[in-house]
Amino acid sequence: MTETREKLVERLPAPLHPLIDIAYNFRWSWSEEAQSLFEDIDATLWVESRENPVRMLLDLGPRRMFQLAEKQDFLVRLQSAHEDLNRYMSTPGAFGSVYPKNTPRVAYFSAEFAIAKSLRVFSGGLGVLAGDHLKSASDLDLPLVGVGLLYKEGYFTQEIDENGQQHATYRQLKPHRLPISLATSEGGKPLKVKLFIEDREVTVQAWKVQVGRIPLLLLDTDIEENSAEDRQITDRLYGGDRKHRLLQEMVLGIGGMKLLSQWLGDQAVGALHLNEGHAAFAAIERARQFAKKDGSSFNEALNKSRGSVVFTTHTPVPAGHDYFDIPLLQAHIYSYLKSSDIEWGEFLNLGQKEQGSTESFCMTVLAVRTSAQRNGVSKLHGQVSREMWQGLWPEERRADNIPIGFVTNGVHMPTWVSRPMGQLYKKAVGPRWPEIGGEAGIWKHLFSIPNNELWAARNRNRAALIQRVRESLIKQMARHGESSEEALEVLSPDALTIVFARRFATYKRATLLLSDEDRLMKLLNDKDRPVQFVFAGKAHPADEPGQEFIRKLHEFGEQKGTKNKFIFLENYDVEIARALVQGADVWLNTPRRPYEASGTSGMKASGNGGLNLSILDGWWAEAWTDHNALDISIGWAIPGTTDEADSATLYNILEKEVVPTFFDRNEEGIPEEWLGMVKSNLSQLTAYFSTHRMVAEYSHIYYGPALRAFQRSF
Ligand SMILES: *Cc1c(COP(=O)(O)O)cnc(C)c1O
Repeated sequence: MTETREKLVERLPAPLHPLIDIAYNFRWSWSEEAQSLFEDIDATLWVESRENPVRMLLDLGPRRMFQLAEKQDFLVRLQSAHEDLNRYMSTPGAFGSVYPKNTPRVAYFSAEFAIAKSLRVFSGGLGVLAGDHLKSASDLDLPLVGVGLLYKEGYFTQEIDENGQQHATYRQLKPHRLPISLATSEGGKPLKVKLFIEDREVTVQAWKVQVGRIPLLLLDTDIEENSAEDRQITDRLYGGDRKHRLLQEMVLGIGGMKLLSQWLGDQAVGALHLNEGHAAFAAIERARQFAKKDGSSFNEALNKSRGSVVFTTHTPVPAGHDYFDIPLLQAHIYSYLKSSDIEWGEFLNLGQKEQGSTESFCMTVLAVRTSAQRNGVSKLHGQVSREMWQGLWPEERRADNIPIGFVTNGVHMPTWVSRPMGQLYKKAVGPRWPEIGGEAGIWKHLFSIPNNELWAARNRNRAALIQRVRESLIKQMARHGESSEEALEVLSPDALTIVFARRFATYKRATLLLSDEDRLMKLLNDKDRPVQFVFAGKAHPADEPGQEFIRKLHEFGEQKGTKNKFIFLENYDVEIARALVQGADVWLNTPRRPYEASGTSGMKASGNGGLNLSILDGWWAEAWTDHNALDISIGWAIPGTTDEADSATLYNILEKEVVPTFFDRNEEGIPEEWLGMVKSNLSQLTAYFSTHRMVAEYSHIYYGPALRAFQRSF
């Protein structure tokens, strides 16, 4: 047992001990029952701890503890939540029989994972996808293990000043106050591995995070054995220079593969899934292990390993692909290669588009050449990726024949769906909706939900969003020395609420809406049919144009005619995202096609009964053509051409369709046509755009064949 866990056992009265089990398994992050239990222990501490149950229990005063230990209704709920966790862990899921016990595992490598707000080792969509992947793998009962990095300072926290300027600050993450523990060897000692970087050895340890049934290892170099400089390799996510990034990727790929083999045994890792190119060195280290085991050459081993490596590429934006200059790479990886009997020239060939040239080494190319199954993250992105990487198959004339497929992204619905909507799903679909939500047939039952109940749930969600926005603004205003009373005037519970929240990468065109301020002003100031907007998102600290977008939106919202109706909310993270996707009536997305590989926030809004108004790019292009068969529309689509044409279409749709439909009410004040669209949307999209469907597809198309290839190779 870890020190912290022991401390909690000592501190808490015995009747509360089941709380410790619940806290240390992140299953609580998608269990409504467990979360409401934590909230009721101490609502303020729960928020102050940033929804970290271990920190809350460590800080809980003795009076409250003993009070709870005698509160019968609380103890009954605690027991029920504990039993629910035990039932969850011991009942086989849908894939429990497909993969017999002791099947080798799929090791899922990712530079970021978003599991819960307090475990800040993510920046955005890639991390959310990875976290949701693990959660669905757990629900479905797939043999998976996650590998990532424990960044002590995580990604930055965003503060917006009076002028709309973004400020990035970093907070220290304290692993000993989180529900995680050091991965240990059989003797109980922390597991450690060494890898060569330049010509020194760097030691790596790992923190184990339990995500339902799935273990996740987060690697960490901040230990005594290492020099001060090496201790900082795992300090920040996307926060350093090229060298810093290279060292992180060596630790993730090489260190991760070494640690995994030690922890599980080398026969226990059957396949690799590289979530983006960041971890592609793992495929090199795996081939090295294969070669060492059976005495083959590195090349032979690589040929053997390839069949069980899956690579998912995530972006058509060139800056999203990692390139390293040759001298930088050579200086840092040479000793590792030498000690592994891998020839430098052979290695270099794996990462250059044009072999034998002087061009930089590309991690995407490395991932493509060391894997046998590769995919993009939506139908459209699969096609874009085949065209983008066609040059890697010079003998192939037709892009259609390039061996890159697609698995469309999804979201883990039980994590993202609000309580009021979850209650409706329970009634219409059944209490097991969180587990079986990937099955297409079940969601047609949503049409049985009475309109007044659906509308009531939507209203509650919108009210909760407004409440959350105000709380955040109160903090922001206090920092600026302003009175917080004004924050209570912000947003109206009856207005049509449109949200734009995502990373402020410029291709997402956050300011497209500002292209016609007169029309925007009219929408905002219509007394009978009021519309309001909430914006949120971080721009990378080095992205000046992205930060300029934030300033512009902030400034626009400061005018007399927009005040309290056009809000920029600071520090977009998973918890704020949850409030926004749950409360939005309309989820707006305006990427420049085809740069949005998939997008997932719109799926979260959709699963909560919000409607999408989006460019036909990524997932929405697919939803629109393949999942839109009923007479009632699922939302609104903008074709995606020029900025001018797109913004004109956006305004036309808002004025002629979105606003009139939302405010067309029956005698009870219910927008029947609108709710018809909500039901059409929910019934057709929810199963498909869930990670349950996505993970099942990975299993059928890639993991199954990969694991068989692994078993054949020995
Ligand atoms: C879902 C999510 C994202 C990804 O959203 P996109 O639609 O892909 O831009 C990014 N950040 C957070 C915090 C999220 O919850």
